[in-house]
Amino acid sequence: MQKNDQFTVTITDYTSEGLGVGKTDGFAWFIKDTVIGDEVIAQATKVKKNYGFARVVRVVKKSPNRVTPACPIAGPCGGCQLQHMNYEAQLAYKEDRVYNNLLRIGEVNPDLLDQVFEEIVGMKEPFHYRNKAQYPISRDRNGRLIAGFYAGRTHSVVAAERCLLGVKENEFLLKTILAWMEEFHIAPYDETSGKGLVRHVLLRKGFRSGQIMVCLVINANDLPHKEELIRRLTCGIPAPAAAKHSAGEKENLKFSAESRNSIHVDSISFSVNRERNNVIMGTKIVNLHGPGYIEDSIGSIRFRISPLSFYQVNPVQTEQMYGAALEFADLKGTENVWDLYCGIGTISLFLSQKAKKVYGVEIIPEAIRDAKENAKLNGIKNAEFYTGAAEEVLPEWYEKHPKERIDVVCVDPPRKGCDEKALETILKMAPEKIVYVSCDSATLARDVKYLRAHGYELRHVRPIDNFCHTVHVEVVSLLQRLSSD
Ligand code: SAH
Repeated sequence: MQKNDQFTVTITDYTSEGLGVGKTDGFAWFIKDTVIGDEVIAQATKVKKNYGFARVVRVVKKSPNRVTPACPIAGPCGGCQLQHMNYEAQLAYKEDRVYNNLLRIGEVNPDLLDQVFEEIVGMKEPFHYRNKAQYPISRDRNGRLIAGFYAGRTHSVVAAERCLLGVKENEFLLKTILAWMEEFHIAPYDETSGKGLVRHVLLRKGFRSGQIMVCLVINANDLPHKEELIRRLTCGIPAPAAAKHSAGEKENLKFSAESRNSIHVDSISFSVNRERNNVIMGTKIVNLHGPGYIEDSIGSIRFRISPLSFYQVNPVQTEQMYGAALEFADLKGTENVWDLYCGIGTISLFLSQKAKKVYGVEIIPEAIRDAKENAKLNGIKNAEFYTGAAEEVLPEWYEKHPKERIDVVCVDPPRKGCDEKALETILKMAPEKIVYVSCDSATLARDVKYLRAHGYELRHVRPIDNFCHTVHVEVVSLLQRLSSD
């Protein structure tokens, strides 16, 4: 088989990137936008020795799980890899991936795995769940100003003012900003020439507070005609659709204190980014309206979110995730807890309500600054935060406090998983419980294998769908110490 050859194939599996897998005479094909059970005519786009990539020419027989993507630009945008699958099939795919990683990479025996593996926690309404969106601003072929996303792995912008993952307000905010740009002849930034002003628009919404933030990332030190922008964004943008929510969407908005039919922006700022790079935010933020942040809450903990703050993007599912961490930790109020990779201290503060003491560590100094402020904002005094790499801070701390009893260690590492040095120190601390929050089940499985080989047993595995329609899946799991020496 060669490039451009066409063939018929039935999809029987998925890759971890969400591509469909089908075989012809034992040769594996990876095919985008296909569903298990589809029979498709495909055209080879790349042929390697043992496998190849192909694209769908025509679906001959549809899988019962195939649906027409709800978003008209799901294909070119590339942000959602799974919109052509119904939601149940998406959840099953994610569950299988976590299960198989723990089975194959983690070498957890199937009997145990079946015992501890819980059903994935999906969303009732898997759209409009993101509280944050960063839209590059550009012009389309007709010279019209657009806000959207970079298509696939390219740098051309696909207009997506009505992205179905973001909140409905985004569309109206973007329209207001683009109309202001058009009227005052404010140019979008052009990556090739490095000219133009507006690079990105960052939009955030507190689902519980209803507060909205707008931050323009610009290629200059000041924003022209800013007074007019502020006026337009704060005077109440009519947004009929924002007031009208579908039945399912109310789940996401049971959080929202708001049922306004016009949008008021609570925080407006700009960020200066004059570098010719593909980093979105500049480090300098100039506040134009409001206190410089919005507030939101997860459970009963309030958070201050400024333009540069990290904050989980799906608040509904984050609450499920932290709820699982709290449930698995099963704190009685006497425990000392470590929260590694703590970000802005969300899990630490969540756990501190039920623990004696919580220590958090995180590598980004600004996040630790936010964590400390958030602790203060909530009157939490039993949380202490350290800036640095977990694999350095934890061993140093342990050396100084070898006698201090640590009951629970919670980890929420980036995709590459926990550093071995961090895991070694956890073993020395010998906590009764390790709560492992993971955004990559392959590295979770690797670390579970290590911990199981060193005296811990897997007790719970609960996948959580935080990023519906994308290939990502979170997992909260519990490992418990076997011996009680
Ligand atoms: N638990 C937080 C954040 C989890 S994301 C929350 O739920 O919001 C993972 C975090 O690990 C990021 O904030 C990242 O900056 C941090 N990180 C990455 N490498 C690290 C390391 N070696 N040591 C400590 N933190 C690290």
